Amino acid sequence: MEKPKKVKIEEMTTKEIEKSIKNGVETAIIMVGSTEQHGPHLPTATDALIGEILGEKIARKTNALMAPTIQVGCSDHHMDFKGTITIKPHTLMELIKDYCTSLANHGFKNIAIISTHGGNCAPVTTIAPEISKKLDGTKIIPLSSFEKHIKVWNDSTKNHGIKPGDINHAGAAETSILLSEHPELIKKQNIKKGYTGEINSSTIFTEGLKAYTKTGVLGNPEKATKKIGEKIIKDTVNYFAKEIQKQTK
Ligand SMILES: [Zn+2]
Repeated sequence: MEKPKKVKIEEMTTKEIEKSIKNGVETAIIMVGSTEQHGPHLPTATDALIGEILGEKIARKTNALMAPTIQVGCSDHHMDFKGTITIKPHTLMELIKDYCTSLANHGFKNIAIISTHGGNCAPVTTIAPEISKKLDGTKIIPLSSFEKHIKVWNDSTKNHGIKPGDINHAGAAETSILLSEHPELIKKQNIKKGYTGEINSSTIFTEGLKAYTKTGVLGNPEKATKKIGEKIIKDTVNYFAKEIQKQTK
């Protein structure tokens, strides 16, 4: 059986990347994850792993290459929980700027930036126009709206007994995705319903998750299944691939 085409820049040689660009690959994708607590059942790399899972599939669908996933993000609101590593919004914005400058240098005409962590969305959206201005001739496509991302997940799961409050952080959606792709990293005996009530989007950032949940879980991971995970992945990949295709036409 033929091996699937490589799309991850860090797994390719410089010659392979050069050939891809020569053969018409014009788009690069940057996934922005985090290293932060995801309750007592999911690993701290959850957002970065989801970035890896989605990014590779999106790249395949859009004839793009994928830059190394950014493993850390803006996670101040998770710092009450051990293991969280947070960087300042400014640091993240500078890092993304440098990623884009490097990729533009190699001839990528379009760069899509997708965050799999809510805390990164504002920095990504803020810095994108500045990068666009600096890199004349390169289209910067920020696809990092937390609301849109959550809407895709809500739409994907609503017919599967999952309510919007079940999803959020380390809840039914993220747990389902890892159940389908990395079950070995889940502490299944620790899966327990977290806070599923209303969340004030400003207090969550000023007071942190501790204001809502002792375990770090917002949502209900008890509803997670491998099958739902497969569906969420498929729908999310389709959504982002369509957006990229629309904006690179
Ligand atoms: Zn997460």
